[in-house]
Amino acid sequence: MDGRLACTDRRTSDGQRTASSIYAVSLPAKNDLSYGGKSFIMAEDEKIEKAEKNMEREIDLAEISDGRLYTAEDLVKVGCGDCAGCSSCCRETGNTILLDPYDIWQLGCGTKLSFFELLEQGRIELNMADGVILPNLKLRENGEGCSFLNEEGRCSIHAFRPGLCRLFPLGRIYEEGGFRYFLQVHECHKQNRSKVKVKKWLRIPDIRRYEAFVLAWHDYLKRVGGEVKCAEDEARMKELTMSVLRLFFLLPYEENDFYGQFYERLGKGN
Ligand code: SF4
Ligand code: SF4
Repeated sequence: MDGRLACTDRRTSDGQRTASSIYAVSLPAKNDLSYGGKSFIMAEDEKIEKAEKNMEREIDLAEISDGRLYTAEDLVKVGCGDCAGCSSCCRETGNTILLDPYDIWQLGCGTKLSFFELLEQGRIELNMADGVILPNLKLRENGEGCSFLNEEGRCSIHAFRPGLCRLFPLGRIYEEGGFRYFLQVHECHKQNRSKVKVKKWLRIPDIRRYEAFVLAWHDYLKRVGGEVKCAEDEARMKELTMSVLRLFFLLPYEENDFYGQFYERLGKGN
């Protein structure tokens, strides 16, 4: 079974890249990267050339999955005894745990830290992914993994951890007008995993609304990323590259009604 899928898993980001995955862009000078009177640094150099994280990859699902696709209502073998004694997938993630607006909203509500404070405290960082600047969880520089991992090797933000942390070791495959889940059989090392309903594994309120958001966000990023690749001049490329960051991350969210705020912004971005 072959599929073209979004890289929603955390440790297979070096999978086979699609064409044109190496992409160079000049970003604004670091002092221009500001919002609401605050500025922050994405990188020391004003000219950033990166091998971008590629969210879409050509991949053979038969090699990495059990060959099945799941909906939120299906049972899947992911139960790992609450990860007891294991935190390996919180330590070896690199910069692959991309954060979406729901994650940032949740993190803000749960930690009471603004997007800027999360950046300043080294909890998150910014990187290029498919032509746009997106936040991802930042690992500690001493090799101790995610900064939210506590001394007992447990997630200190478990109740409001990001969507990709909830998903693992599942991934998503995007199809025409929707997506389904697949199980990455080589990712979690626990033996004898039990069957759990996908929606129970994710533990996200109102799963249908959340899935609609995930799809809308995926489609939006895909469209903007495509426009960046086709941009005729550097000014347009910069504008598009920054637009997602400004509209969906730098602008703070109210604590209530995330989805209302998201779709209002999406309307402005379309
Ligand atoms: S590898 Fe499996 S058991 Fe270990 S932390 Fe990750 S999900 Fe939990
Ligand atoms: S946020 Fe929590 S679950 Fe996610 S990588 Fe960090 S410690 Fe692990």
